[in-house]
Amino acid sequence: MATPDTPGAGLVDTFGRVATDLRVSLTDRCNLRCSYCMPAEGLDWLPKPEVLTDDEVTRLMRIAVEQLGVREIRFTGGEPLLRPGIVGIVAATTALRPRPEVSLTTNGIGLARIAGALAEAGLDRVNVSLDTLDPERFRTITRRDRLPDVLAGMRAAADAGLTPVKVNAVLLRGINDNDAVPLLEFCLQHGYELRIIEQMPLDAQHAWDRSTMITAEEILTSLRTRFALSEDPVERGASPAETWLVDGGPARVGVIGSVTRAFCGTCDRTRLTADGQIRNCLFAREESDLRAALRSGGSDEEIADRWRLAMWTKKPGHGIDDPSFLQPARPMSSIGG
Ligand code: SAM
Ligand code: SF4
Repeated sequence: MATPDTPGAGLVDTFGRVATDLRVSLTDRCNLRCSYCMPAEGLDWLPKPEVLTDDEVTRLMRIAVEQLGVREIRFTGGEPLLRPGIVGIVAATTALRPRPEVSLTTNGIGLARIAGALAEAGLDRVNVSLDTLDPERFRTITRRDRLPDVLAGMRAAADAGLTPVKVNAVLLRGINDNDAVPLLEFCLQHGYELRIIEQMPLDAQHAWDRSTMITAEEILTSLRTRFALSEDPVERGASPAETWLVDGGPARVGVIGSVTRAFCGTCDRTRLTADGQIRNCLFAREESDLRAALRSGGSDEEIADRWRLAMWTKKPGHGIDDPSFLQPARPMSSIGG
């Protein structure tokens, strides 16, 4: 088995997993306040000098692609479209060789304006988060009245060829637990692919409660009240989503059972926060500081070595069900979901 010292080693860990999928958080700021993610008043945002510059982010992605075997890069946040240099960062990423697959997870606000430029910069796909089609419930969940902007963003992304547009939804008991069917109907109508995600203990308020979380099983039961779901012949690979054909296909729906159907054994992800920390897991309690290495004149090789070491210590799983589980100090919006 490869170790970090093996010549040309990628991002391997002690369990034999190899990270080839990099999630890059471009900012911890956001223009929504989804209740499962952030408190109404927002958070103490990272001070600007702590956030990596566009050149620093681009350099780290180049090292990841050229030296560490990263093949896929997804930009996220906070809200990545709030990053002023996003189009340039995407263009620099798609110019890397071997060219990685490049995608973006966004809440969709502002996407209508920028989708064309992102497509021109080479962006391959987008995931847009949308938990309900009902304007009242949208406002309750996100604490903002922006549903029309999100819907316009999705349309613009599809028109710009950023396809398949995937739609990420989180269901909350007593709020939008009946929205799985209308969301899937909407996605089928527009040619979007729906992914429903189990709520995870990553909210800044630490209000997550396992006993009230809507499980993958419940999501499937709800979808089956209206649709026939059958096994997807396409191999799942390292995808967090388990997918089903809807009414015989070709349309699909995915469920991401992060808590009750954990997929840690096949995880191929490594994460870079907006302030230059490597996290080997969403739920990691430790980080490795690449910003310090960058700013103290570290060579590409030194930075690559530090990144390899950070991944080597990745735990076998998130451990949410262990009695000793502790939620990480950073919330989802600051890690990059
Ligand atoms: N702001 C962008 C967005 O909302 O798409 C990107 C960042 S957001 C943290 C990425 C994804 O994480 C979104 O689809 C969001 O619904 C999901 N998310 C946020 N908090 C979550 C939680 N506690 N459990 C599960 N998913 C969560
Ligand atoms: Fe913002 Fe995304 Fe968190 Fe919602 S889930 S508050 S859109 S970062």
